[in-house]
Amino acid sequence: MVSSLSVSASASPFLSLPFRHFLRSPRVQLAISSAFIRSLTHYRKQSRAMSTFPNFGTAAIHVGQEPENWDMMQVVPPISCSTTYKQETAGQPKKHDYSRAGNPTRDVLEKNLAALEDAKYCHTFSSGLAATMAVVNILKSGDHIVCSDDIYGGTQRFLRKVSIPNHGLQADFVDLTKLSEVEKAFKPNTKMVWFESPSNPLLKVVDIATVTNIAKKHNPDILVVVDNTFMSPYFQRPLSLGGDIVVHSITKYINGHSDVVMGCAITDNDTVQKHLYFQQMAVGAVPSPFDCFLVNRGIKTLHLRMRAHYENALAIAKYLEANERIGKVLYPALPSHPQHEVHKKQTKGMSGMISFYLKGELEQSSAFLSALKVFTLAESLGGYESLAELPSIMTHASVPPEDRAKLGITDNLIRISVGCEDLDDLIADLDQALKSAIPRI
Ligand SMILES: *Cc1c(COP(=O)(O)O)cnc(C)c1O
Repeated sequence: MVSSLSVSASASPFLSLPFRHFLRSPRVQLAISSAFIRSLTHYRKQSRAMSTFPNFGTAAIHVGQEPENWDMMQVVPPISCSTTYKQETAGQPKKHDYSRAGNPTRDVLEKNLAALEDAKYCHTFSSGLAATMAVVNILKSGDHIVCSDDIYGGTQRFLRKVSIPNHGLQADFVDLTKLSEVEKAFKPNTKMVWFESPSNPLLKVVDIATVTNIAKKHNPDILVVVDNTFMSPYFQRPLSLGGDIVVHSITKYINGHSDVVMGCAITDNDTVQKHLYFQQMAVGAVPSPFDCFLVNRGIKTLHLRMRAHYENALAIAKYLEANERIGKVLYPALPSHPQHEVHKKQTKGMSGMISFYLKGELEQSSAFLSALKVFTLAESLGGYESLAELPSIMTHASVPPEDRAKLGITDNLIRISVGCEDLDDLIADLDQALKSAIPRI
């Protein structure tokens, strides 16, 4: 992942002169570097199989940030605002020719993001939904997509209101936690599987490797796309489990400061990479250099933030589960979660997303949300600040009411995004708001 090792004999003053000459000979250099490459390949395979993510924080801080990229050796990558680039000879730019097609600040960010998912390529877009559109644009009219039934409301709206009616895509929305339903969902024209794990807002965990195997058995060319927004690459790396494309709403955990809207698509697949680059250039939903700078800066603390989100959220999930005013808590890291074993198998932890049913109706939910003082009643998630919302009338209002009822997105389902504040203050806030909304139990 972070590999800038060059085998240099002269670098070590501790070696004897003849030994240094020996090391410098071309054949020895070749042997050393191929052994090094072999060890890297071995390491990469092993790390993928074990789904472990060594050196994440170092990669987040250093990959793509080399001062040698810049004439002035800036340690912090500059914001490069120029929309165009001087060419010495017509048609032969040094690297970029126009900023929609490529920009140095965006390059820095994309290189860094690819490393975080341990992938070859990343392309960024002006929002998570723009990244979604860029990926879905690989499909043609008449193609079929198997989509999980419990995905981000905006992704559903895009498929139901744009792709299906306007562009002739076919889609089935399926519960991907039920493997028998997954087997039945594929058709001869199925070209893509799209899901989130854990899902939004019910935090259902999809067995990424198993669903991928079922899809590839049906047709090896089916592209498996995982929206990894809820986990961040720190806790889950879908490409290591067989997925083809990872999508992120960078707006959430990756930026983590609730001040940029951005998305990305990450892949190891050369054909998909060419498609994504073409989408940036030909469709044009690219992020600004300033936003790329902010996200690149936000990533420097991604590993620290994710650890804090996990620690706070696990304690809060346990508090809620023991609370008499709460019916059921949905948090994959709790042993009570229906897919807890799958969660443990494919992740390294869990983010700050918790959903729970309080004992009440719309009236109690609204009273609870309005009584919160540290948590802010707002949509979105993944920032350093704690948020709370009511999916049935906020984030998931665009899901058809009969589907909401079937899924369990009822008026007493609350979704919280646990931030990085002090745990005692968060629990005290939830406690006072629950007592004020539901005075007697
Ligand atoms: C927010 C979100 C999106 C959409 O991203 P935007 O940056 O808001 O366009 C997609 N998927 C998930 C899981 C999200 O939470």
